[in-house]
Amino acid sequence: MTSSMDIENAHTSGVYPKRPLTIVRGEGAYLFDDAGNRYIDCVGGQGAANMGHAHPAIVAAIREQAGILMSCPEIFYNDKRAALLDKLTALAGLRRAYLCNSGTEAVEAALKFAKLATGRKEIIATRRGFHGRTMGALSATWEPKYREPFQPLVPNYTHIAYNDLAAADAAITDQTAAIIVEPVQGEGGVHPAQADYLRGLQKLCRERGAMFILDEIQTGFGRTGKLFAYQHYGLEPDLMPVAKSIAGGLPFGACLIGDRVGELQPMTHGATFGGNPLMCAAAIAALDVLVNEDLAGRAAALGGWMLERLADLPTDKVREVRGLGLIIGIELRSKVTPVLKALQEQGVLALPAGATVLRLLPPLVISQQDLELVAQAIEKVLSAAPELA
Ligand SMILES: *Cc1c(COP(=O)(O)O)cnc(C)c1O
Repeated sequence: MTSSMDIENAHTSGVYPKRPLTIVRGEGAYLFDDAGNRYIDCVGGQGAANMGHAHPAIVAAIREQAGILMSCPEIFYNDKRAALLDKLTALAGLRRAYLCNSGTEAVEAALKFAKLATGRKEIIATRRGFHGRTMGALSATWEPKYREPFQPLVPNYTHIAYNDLAAADAAITDQTAAIIVEPVQGEGGVHPAQADYLRGLQKLCRERGAMFILDEIQTGFGRTGKLFAYQHYGLEPDLMPVAKSIAGGLPFGACLIGDRVGELQPMTHGATFGGNPLMCAAAIAALDVLVNEDLAGRAAALGGWMLERLADLPTDKVREVRGLGLIIGIELRSKVTPVLKALQEQGVLALPAGATVLRLLPPLVISQQDLELVAQAIEKVLSAAPELA
């Protein structure tokens, strides 16, 4: 019998760095491979599995809606979409939302709406920032190896240093449509923003007539210990792209829209699958799980505990441990890839964030006992491997 690995290797696009592991099932904070081995999941669907794998309430909602209605473009009204919009905007604290299918699409919407709202052409983004891989979002993304093969990108994007308000002040002009920033840079190495920086960016945008876009795609839905990371800082973003865990793991996204963005006119944007009832039903169930199980509270408590637990990792192997809630980055003094491989052998799956940062994004339903096992596995892997020093 040909293995899944052989078949994928024969037919896959090739754009993903693959690990030699075939995952066939998930439950809560665990993943299982095709040989029945169990792993503690600190990949968390790259941020899409905050509510845990195969959550019964989300599974039931998807099953039920699949038998009722799956396709219903936004030219019609729909009961599930109405219920989702009501719930999502109440939780997010912004009155309107454009519904789409992924993070990068939510960012594209935010960039277009900022241009529509201001009539301006320039976008300011940050070094190390990540906002997606379609052309508009990619133009805001920093990493040269994601960008360079695709030049020319969208013109009039500037990248400034993160956590540097003076740089933003110097870069903003009367043609700036928006400043786009992550509250914690995820892909860029798990760098939390300073509170004064984010508040200062918002103020600058308001004074200079630009839109403040807060990319909460990775930080939203409980990840950082609040429903949305902006709530740590009392911000009021004008545009807030979200995706990843919004629908409990199904492909879905939204761009929340604040009142500084005026009326948006029909035909200025849209998507065939936008706001489709199956995703809306899944998202309603996922948001209910988020609130009813207080996953943000869990992330705050467990994340705080884990950051302390990891604080005394050996300093000859670890440069710094950073995080907010349950997005945690461990900056190593060596390449992260061998550490990820060794952790997998210890039954722990984790992510990189750049070449030297080990990133943990577990489902927020993970237990403290399992986080303790993750900490022990990291200690063991770092101490057992002199070649990693
Ligand atoms: C993952 C991510 C995106 C892109 O989302 P996709 O669904 O992969 O397109 C954009 N911004 C941030 C901050 C992300 O973490």
